[in-house]
Amino acid sequence: MSWRAAIARYRASVAEDGHTFVFGLEGDRVIDGARGGNSARWINHGCEPNCEAVEDGTRVFIRALRRIRPGDELLLDYRLAVDGRRTAAVKRLYACRCGAQGCRGTMLA
Ligand SMILES: [Zn+2]
Repeated sequence: MSWRAAIARYRASVAEDGHTFVFGLEGDRVIDGARGGNSARWINHGCEPNCEAVEDGTRVFIRALRRIRPGDELLLDYRLAVDGRRTAAVKRLYACRCGAQGCRGTMLA
């Protein structure tokens, strides 16, 4: 779907907690993992990720950046973008507490 459609769909819930399953693609498209998405929608943010998302046509693949052992949590660096100013409230909404040594303290790009 387009970003515009995704924003309209999530406008109310994002205002509450910032949580969505929207995955931004190149261009003006997104995947809404909340509608028929697979288990990749549960991959959390980490400032020192062990995975990266790779687009290939209309699909997104999750590729390991290093060896991942059974039981390790899969982590992507979300590098989120938000419209408007990065107010204190926005920074709190997207705060990161991943615990990595190099934690940026934010899920924002
Ligand atoms: Zn972090």
